[in-house]
Amino acid sequence: MAVDLHTHSIESDGTDAPAEIVAAAARAGLSAVALTDHDTLSGIPAARAAAAGAGLELVSGAELSVDWDGGTMHMLCYFLDPERPGPLQERLAEVRDARAGRNRGIVARLRELGMEVTWDEVAAEAHSGVVGRPHIAAVLVAKGHAESIPDAFERWLAAGRPAYVDRYRLGWQEAAELARAEGAVPVVAHPHTLGVNAGEYGRAFAALSAGGVRGIEAWYGEYAPPVREHLAAIAAELGMVATGGSDYHGRYKPHLAIGTGRGDLSVPDAALDGLRAARAPA
Ligand code: AMP
Ligand code: ZN
Ligand code: FE
Ligand code: FE
Repeated sequence: MAVDLHTHSIESDGTDAPAEIVAAAARAGLSAVALTDHDTLSGIPAARAAAAGAGLELVSGAELSVDWDGGTMHMLCYFLDPERPGPLQERLAEVRDARAGRNRGIVARLRELGMEVTWDEVAAEAHSGVVGRPHIAAVLVAKGHAESIPDAFERWLAAGRPAYVDRYRLGWQEAAELARAEGAVPVVAHPHTLGVNAGEYGRAFAALSAGGVRGIEAWYGEYAPPVREHLAAIAAELGMVATGGSDYHGRYKPHLAIGTGRGDLSVPDAALDGLRAARAPA
């Protein structure tokens, strides 16, 4: 059996409802699926209810963007329980507020640049979920200001592009400590975004491990098999958990499927067993 430990629903910047994610995971024959929306656990209750009916395990999680060494990294936090909010969940409300301010800043910048994008259009694209740049990108595509979502990032929204606006983030160590204090397990997502050469991964992961990060997303949907194997080998050397997932976003990343990513992904059940074993004792 296999698992998928990285998916996004309509509660953040995916396009499927949480229950649809669970149904797709069941159809793919997975034993477990994690819902890891950006900065929110609001999809977890519906996903959990759907999983109970579909006979697979729902792992609750969230993905955070955190400061790292002059840049940013994404941190997946597993086993956060929305019914028992702890110190990390308390901080997430602030993070969501800051995100909302940043998003309005982006829309204002786009309008200054001559595009007739309105906040209402962006909000409609996001339904009631946490708004992210992919929603703004989708509106830009619909209005003819970009050819595709990646093109909208490339032209306007990515760091350094004309409508980029930065936002407040937790520091990585702070986030890892808060997650662990809440009984959660922090994992470094898609390590290529650390901005570290493959030859320096060992040193970077050792630093992350010393700061409380327990896993490395080795079996990532977008990676070629040798990259996955390399990352899993480093995780084993450092005593960290090799985790993995598709980073499914529905229509916003149409090349990625739940469970199989680009088609060749299979995340072993051992990844979830390892995460469970890495929980701090209660
Ligand atoms: P935000 O959380 O609002 O800063 O938006 C970040 C999200 O946008 C990421 O989690 C990805 O899903 C998506 N994203 C970031 N960069 C790109 C890109 N170059 N092309 C397409 N999607 C991207
Ligand atoms: Zn996303
Ligand atoms: Fe990410
Ligand atoms: Fe993600």
